[in-house]
Amino acid sequence: MSRPRIVIVGAGFAGYRAARTLSRAARGRADITLLNPTDYFLYLPLLPQVAAGILEPRRVTVSLSGTLRGVRLVLGEADHIDLDARSVHCTGPEGDTATLAYDRLVLAAGSVNKLLPVPGVAEHAHGFRGLPEALYLRDHVTRQIELAASADDPKSCAARCTFVVVGAGYTGTEVAAQGQLLTDALVRKHPLRDGVRPRWLLLDLAGRVLPELDRRLSDTAGRVLRGRGVEVRTGTSVKEATRDGVLLTDGEFVDTRTLVWCVGVRPDPLAESLGLPMERGRLLVEPTLRVPGRPEVFACGDAAAVPDLDEPGQYTPMTAQHAWRQGKVAGQNVAASLIGGELRSYRHKDLGFVVDLGGVQAAANPLGVPLSGPLAGAVTRGYHLAAMPGNRVRVAADWLLDAVLPRQGVQLGLVRSWSVPLDTASPELVRMPGGEPAGHRSGGAPARDHPATAPGAHPAPGPVKRSDTPAQGDQ
Ligand SMILES: Cc1cc2nc3c(=O)[nH]c(=O)nc-3n(C[C@H](O)[C@H](O)[C@H](O)COP(=O)(O)OP(=O)(O)OC[C@H]3O[C@@H](n4cnc5c(N)ncnc54)[C@H](O)[C@@H]3O)c2cc1C
Repeated sequence: MSRPRIVIVGAGFAGYRAARTLSRAARGRADITLLNPTDYFLYLPLLPQVAAGILEPRRVTVSLSGTLRGVRLVLGEADHIDLDARSVHCTGPEGDTATLAYDRLVLAAGSVNKLLPVPGVAEHAHGFRGLPEALYLRDHVTRQIELAASADDPKSCAARCTFVVVGAGYTGTEVAAQGQLLTDALVRKHPLRDGVRPRWLLLDLAGRVLPELDRRLSDTAGRVLRGRGVEVRTGTSVKEATRDGVLLTDGEFVDTRTLVWCVGVRPDPLAESLGLPMERGRLLVEPTLRVPGRPEVFACGDAAAVPDLDEPGQYTPMTAQHAWRQGKVAGQNVAASLIGGELRSYRHKDLGFVVDLGGVQAAANPLGVPLSGPLAGAVTRGYHLAAMPGNRVRVAADWLLDAVLPRQGVQLGLVRSWSVPLDTASPELVRMPGGEPAGHRSGGAPARDHPATAPGAHPAPGPVKRSDTPAQGDQ
C-alpha cells in the first residue's frame, strides 16, 4: 500500500505543531509535506522586540527543515485548493507553480492585517504582522529621529517625533511600550532641539488598553504606559489618515509621519476561497478540527473557527496558545483518521497571558495570578523562552546584550514603505518591484507606492537613495 500523503498549508503555530506531531507519529510511514512561503516558523509574540532593536530578526525564526525531521518543505503559497480533486495548487518564490495531491489536508494559513474602511489608512499606515513590517518600523522610527534631530523647522521636527499606534490589543500595546523606550534611547544619541521628547500615542475605541484581556492586566499596562509618557487615548480612533498626519475621531489633527495599524487581524483569505461554511471569516470546523462534510480536511489556528467546548456558542480566540495546541490535536487526529482510530475533541483552558512592556516591565497572569513589574517581566521572558520551539540560546543572548549595551541606532534601509503595504495577504513577504508581492497574492487593493509607477522608481530595495524615495513612499 502506498504511503498516505499529508499536506499542511502554513507553518505558523498551528501548522508547525501539526507537522511536528505528525512526523513523530508517522515515523516515515506517511509523506508529510509542509507548504509555507518562508523557510522558517516565526515566533510572532517577540516581533515587537525586533522592531525595538532588542532582538535581531533571525532570533525569532526557527528553521523548518532544521527542526522538522521527516517533513518535506515546499516553499511557496497555496493559491487554490481543489477539494474535489484533493489537490493544492501553489506558487513558489520564483513564480514556479506546482500541484500537491493529498489524502489528508491541514489548513493552518493563519491571519493577515485587518483593514477598516477609514480613508487614507491603506495608503499611509503600516501593519505589524510579519518580519518585513517589523524591520521596516525599526528603520523608519530610527530615520524619523535622525531627520528630526537635524530638522530646522520645529513643526517638521515635532511631526517626525510623533508616533501613532492604533489598536491597544497586545500587539499595539507592546509596540507602543517598546517604541517609546526605543525612541528615548535614540534621542540620547541624537538630541532634539529644545529638549523635545518623542511622543507616542496609543489609540483604541475600547475603554481600556488590552480590552480583550483580564482587567488587571489592562490596569498594569495602562499604568506603565502612562508612567512612561505614552498618551493612551481610549474611546478614540482614526477618522482619516493623510501624508501629513491623522485626523482623530475626537476632531484633533495630529501631525505625524508614522501610523502603525494594529487593529487586529482577519483570517487568511485562502480559507474564504474554499466556499465552505465560515464563522466570522474563519473556516468552521468540528471540535475535532475536521471540516464538516470533508473528512479528509482539517483546519486549525487563526484560520479556523473552533468551537470552545467550555463556552458553548463561542469559538476559541485567535491566540498563539490556542493555535499551538490545536496544531497538536490536528496532527493526532490526522494520524488517527489514517489508521481508523478515534478522533479527540479540542479543549483547552487559557493558562494566562503575558504582555511584554519593555525594560523590566510586563503584565502577566500565569494560571490567573496577576503579576506586574520585574517579576512579571521575568515570568514573561521565561514563558517565551519555554514556548519557542528553537533558537532559545540566541534569544537569551540578545536579551543579555541588550541589558548591558546601548541599543544600536542604525537603519539598514532594506525594507521600504512600498514593499510592506498594509493590505496584503502575504505580510510575511516583502512586495517586490513590479507590484506583486513576492508570494503573488495581493490582499485585494493595489500596491501601495508601487515603485514602478512612483516617481524616481528604483529597481530594488536597498540603502536609501534620493531617487529611491517615492513621493508618497517612505514618509
Ligand atoms: C505582533 C504579534 C504579537 C502577538 N503576540 C501574541 C501573544 O503574545 N500571545 C498570543 O497568544 N498570541 C499572540 N499573537 C497572535 C498569535 O501570533 C496568532 O494567534 C498565531 O500566530 C496564530 O497561529 P497560526 O498558526 O494560526 O497562524 P500564523 O502563526 O500566522 O501562521 C500562519 C502561517 O501560514 C503561512 N501562510 C499564510 N498563507 C499561506 C498560504 N496561502 N500558503 C501557504 N502558507 C501560508 C504564513 O506564512 C504563516 O507561516 C500575536 C500576533 C502578532 C501579529
